[in-house]
Amino acid sequence: RPGLRPLIAGNWKMFHGGGTGLALAIDCTQIAQRVPHVDLVIAPPYTVLAACSHECEGKRVALAAQNIHSKDKGAFTGEVSGPMLVESGCTWAIIGHSERRQLFGETDASVAEKTAAALQFGLLPIVCVGETLAEREAGETLAVVGRQVRAFLDIILAGAGTDKAVAIAYEPVWAIGTGKNAGPAEAEEVHAAIRKWLTEKSAELAKRTRILYGGSVKPDNAKALLAEPNVDGALIGGASLDATSFGAIAEAA
Ligand code: PEP
Repeated sequence: RPGLRPLIAGNWKMFHGGGTGLALAIDCTQIAQRVPHVDLVIAPPYTVLAACSHECEGKRVALAAQNIHSKDKGAFTGEVSGPMLVESGCTWAIIGHSERRQLFGETDASVAEKTAAALQFGLLPIVCVGETLAEREAGETLAVVGRQVRAFLDIILAGAGTDKAVAIAYEPVWAIGTGKNAGPAEAEEVHAAIRKWLTEKSAELAKRTRILYGGSVKPDNAKALLAEPNVDGALIGGASLDATSFGAIAEAA
């Protein structure tokens, strides 16, 4: 896509929270040197964010939180706010990952609130959407993803101003951690629809928003997915836990 740098983001989930996380972050700074044309983002667990941020400072690896609370502070045991994430070195926040939606009760409404909070507190959201296998098989993919995207489009339009480059990750639930990925054409169909919904809101916003594909992206399928015209990057789970595979995917971008 002319003008849009590829964004490759690694979602570490609940792995690599200590010394192994720090070592992987350092490896990622070396990957970044090999791919000057790519924006690299890693999302370590909260416990190792600040230490990773220290290692990544000035080295072209940005940090993302895996979640965010919508308030800036308060009596919300176990939660972490946007300002705290910024203080820990984050510039991005992953919002509405399917595991959060499926296992932790997040809804289109809470995803919208969190997206607004991220933008308000100075974080760029990577908002995740995607259909389940049952929804795909029922032919409801575009209806479901359309509903999920429309739930936060106005928030992004209001909060991203004229220069904030947010990201939307299309992650079919059936492809996450399963080894089954959407084929490039299947992914492109949904990405093109997301671009169209963005364009209907604002052509300018649509041009600067990167639409990432996520779901079993591996070194051997990354190139074909990333070659699609509306696939501007990837959100990587399993393959981001290892520097060799994450590096190979970044090099394919
Ligand atoms: C994810 O969790 O965002 C993801 C895409 O996972 P995986 O790459 O392991 O399918």
